[in-house]
Amino acid sequence: MRCPFCRHADSRVVDSREVDDGQVIRRRRSCPECGRRFTTVEEAILAVVKRSGVTEPFSRDKVVRGVARACQGRPVNEDQLQLLAQKVEETIRATGSAEIPSHEVGLAILGPLRELDGVAYLRFASVYRSFSSVEDFEKEIADLRAAMADGAAQRDEQ
Ligand SMILES: [Zn+2]
Repeated sequence: MRCPFCRHADSRVVDSREVDDGQVIRRRRSCPECGRRFTTVEEAILAVVKRSGVTEPFSRDKVVRGVARACQGRPVNEDQLQLLAQKVEETIRATGSAEIPSHEVGLAILGPLRELDGVAYLRFASVYRSFSSVEDFEKEIADLRAAMADGAAQRDEQ
């Protein structure tokens, strides 16, 4: 790998370690030309397959942007969005596949978003699941209410 300091075409690996349970390999490199050291990170690309068949790398930023749109005007902050995107990535990586269909990204968003904000969840779900009628909303709201009641009951028990 090229040295980011002096642009020398080669560098030497001086240390290599696994992080995140081996999901990521971090390498310490040294430049034989200028002697400076730098770190590289290697991880498997998680590819998202769009409906058109085109693949693109999974992007947390893209998840954040998509969810942020549904969260407009809601009491949801940037940290919460970042955390949600992290959960989505973890869920997807846990499947162990290197390529996942884009609708599974949407599915992985629904759960944590429902916990975060009911209104944002309904907005997101209405687009994602292409709600076509008021009844679709009514059904989803009924499910949401049941889930919230469940959550409240579980909190009461604790
Ligand atoms: Zn160098």
